[in-house]
Amino acid sequence: MRSLVYAAPGKVEWHEAIEPVLQGDYEALVVPVAASRCNFDIALISGGLPLRPPFPIGHEAVVRVVSIGDSVTSVRPGDIAVVVWHIACGVCDRCLRGVTGHCREVPPGSGYGVGGPWGGLFDDLVRVPFADAMLTPVPAGVEPREFSAAGDGLGLGHAIVSRNTHLQPERVAVFGGGEHGLYQVAFAVALGMPYVAYADPDPERRSIAGNLGAHAVAASPDQLDGTFGLIIAVGANADWLYGTIGMLEPEGVIECVGGHFADMRLPGFLSYLNGATVRFGLGNNGPHVRPTIDVVSQGLIRPSTIWAAEIDWEDLPEAYTAEPRKLVALRNQTTA
Ligand SMILES: [Zn+2]
Ligand SMILES: [Zn+2]
Repeated sequence: MRSLVYAAPGKVEWHEAIEPVLQGDYEALVVPVAASRCNFDIALISGGLPLRPPFPIGHEAVVRVVSIGDSVTSVRPGDIAVVVWHIACGVCDRCLRGVTGHCREVPPGSGYGVGGPWGGLFDDLVRVPFADAMLTPVPAGVEPREFSAAGDGLGLGHAIVSRNTHLQPERVAVFGGGEHGLYQVAFAVALGMPYVAYADPDPERRSIAGNLGAHAVAASPDQLDGTFGLIIAVGANADWLYGTIGMLEPEGVIECVGGHFADMRLPGFLSYLNGATVRFGLGNNGPHVRPTIDVVSQGLIRPSTIWAAEIDWEDLPEAYTAEPRKLVALRNQTTA
């Protein structure tokens, strides 16, 4: 079978790989039918992360189930389902308390497309080791492509916003970067945040954020006035993060989506005075796949209209390094 491989910094190409097989009763084999490039991968393939190539890439997809083990109950062959990006059993203590990105059954950081033994979600065939926990069927009536990022980047919109609704922030700020900031805006609006400001140097994304319902669009955070009870900082901009502490309402929360991978400085005394909470960390998407599917199914968010570029599966190697917008690849169903 073919596998899309991050071969070297700046280079993505098809490689031949051994087809996976079912290895237990709780597993499934799936074919990705629409898969997207996460903004994380742009940093990854630039060589900017401590993950050394070569390895299969891709960790966002909606899939068709091909075969299942005898104990799988959540999906059947032929179903279209979202696969979550991380490997998670669903039944260990960590999975049960919702931190599914840290499942005890697998080594830290286990997921598709990040260098482990699980392959990538542009592979022709993918093994899902815990099918009931990792696959969520999607409803008919909505194009499967709309769900390609529901198990990762789009789902992070629900994960981040929903875990901060208890703060009841009067004002939310999103610092953009890639598609992640726009997904955060979309969920902040969809989940009822009354005022969402958006800062991003990119004018096209600023325009889209405005259409999604964000206010006070500006090129950088220092152009925003006032304070914010919740600040969602996307894009790993350490300078922006430093200045963010002073923009926070007392006891507010800063969420860093997409991670920071280098050491950084933070203003310690100001953080103390302001009671700042800063959260980092990979996405615990497991509990948020179903709610994300529901929001899309209800028409509250339409991902294909959010800075997306749909391409043919065959064009993946070139587009992966060249297309700046959210890249969504559609597999030719007659050959899938
Ligand atoms: Zn991702
Ligand atoms: Zn687990």
